[in-house]
Amino acid sequence: MSAILLNHINDVKTYIYKWKNENLKIGLVPTMGALHSGHVSLIKKAKSMCDKVVVSVFVNPVQFGPNEDYDKYPRTIEKDKMLCDELDADIVFAPSANEMYGENVKLSNTDLTFVCPPYNYIDCMCGKSRPGHFDGVATVVTKLFNIVQPDYAFFGQKDAQQLYIIKKMVKDLNMNLEIVPCPIVRESDGLALSSRNAYLSADERQCALSISKALFEIERLYNQKITDANILFDSALAILNKNLELEYLEFRNFDTFEKVDKICKNTLAAIAVKIGKTRLIDNIILG
Ligand code: AMP
Repeated sequence: MSAILLNHINDVKTYIYKWKNENLKIGLVPTMGALHSGHVSLIKKAKSMCDKVVVSVFVNPVQFGPNEDYDKYPRTIEKDKMLCDELDADIVFAPSANEMYGENVKLSNTDLTFVCPPYNYIDCMCGKSRPGHFDGVATVVTKLFNIVQPDYAFFGQKDAQQLYIIKKMVKDLNMNLEIVPCPIVRESDGLALSSRNAYLSADERQCALSISKALFEIERLYNQKITDANILFDSALAILNKNLELEYLEFRNFDTFEKVDKICKNTLAAIAVKIGKTRLIDNIILG
């Protein structure tokens, strides 16, 4: 079956209205496109749980900082649509920035209503180096929830902080849906799939492999009962390629997101690095 490609909010709402009347369960998979196997796993999960699946493809300008990669972010809507056809998604919603935010609207909090996650959730990890990023994410996700009115929305654990913030937002704002977390999909050599991997040269990709290697080393040592965060940090650092710029490597409780010194079950080890101009994140949950 072919997915329906829609660019306008009102067209999506027409389908949603009809589906709601038929009592169908609706799943939403929010993406920025350039779809890869990570996204595919989310769409498949959505298909397994819902009657109708909407995949949104939107490179959201308000979650990018002024010096970030908004303009060069890969846009491959034709390929994305074909993949959604194969996966039997029902709607691919690919709005323009004007459709989402209105024409001639300044994309800042002087002109737009923003959803702002709590300070404690954004003043760390990715939020530290990307001020405003999670406000932009929470805002666009809220808008997508309001347009699609999903029963379930599917998010990858690859963006662990984002997932945590979205869950908190849904709870705090009494949003009427369930967030379904989905595990990280990796290449066979361990590299976590990301649309930004397309930026990497062959040498940079080789270098990027040390990110997952460092996380797997943490897991290996943890499985040997080494639980001191400092020791695990140093062991990971020794494995990371020296051409990488480490932004953070942190250990946090995956339920509370509090920093931990002693690693135990359900600890998130999360990392962000820069390779040349490309920023990559990855994580592992120690079980
Ligand atoms: P993005 O298009 O990068 O905004 O990602 C859209 C969704 O796909 C987010 O919920 C991501 O966490 C998820 N995602 C991205 N990469 C992966 C991956 N390698 N494995 C699982 N989910 C992923």
